[in-house]
Amino acid sequence: MQSISISIGLWFKLMKGLRRRGAGFTESGGFLLCNPGKSKVVKIVFYDQFDKTVSESGIIQFKGAASFFEYLAEEKLEVLADIHTHPTRNTQQSDSDKKHPMIRTRGHIAIIAPNFAKNFLLSPKQCSVYEYLGHFDWRKFEISKFPIHLKLI
Ligand SMILES: [Zn+2]
Repeated sequence: MQSISISIGLWFKLMKGLRRRGAGFTESGGFLLCNPGKSKVVKIVFYDQFDKTVSESGIIQFKGAASFFEYLAEEKLEVLADIHTHPTRNTQQSDSDKKHPMIRTRGHIAIIAPNFAKNFLLSPKQCSVYEYLGHFDWRKFEISKFPIHLKLI
């Protein structure tokens, strides 16, 4: 099972970025990136860096994949997980979430943050985390096997 570590500083930067982009009324999202083969987040990028219109309809419709993959190759980074916000406390995957994995690789991790990430002290455990099993099938991580760990640095 994949486990992801992220510094507290980067986690709150991620939450702040999601909150600012969603402005309390649209979903927003981004990718957690690592060095090849590692499990520590070293960089956060947001969908709108690659597709300005990603949140225009209110839900995520990402059309920036080509330039995003170019960026990954240039920076020599890999995707650990994606994250996006939902408008309410409901962090269950929507049908659209299930049918449109951001990365179509078995084992890819998708995180859903509640309430447009408006809570300033939102912790990873208030989010739901899903693993892609292929064929548009997912499993949700139980809280006892929660795969995201905050680190001081
Ligand atoms: Zn969703």
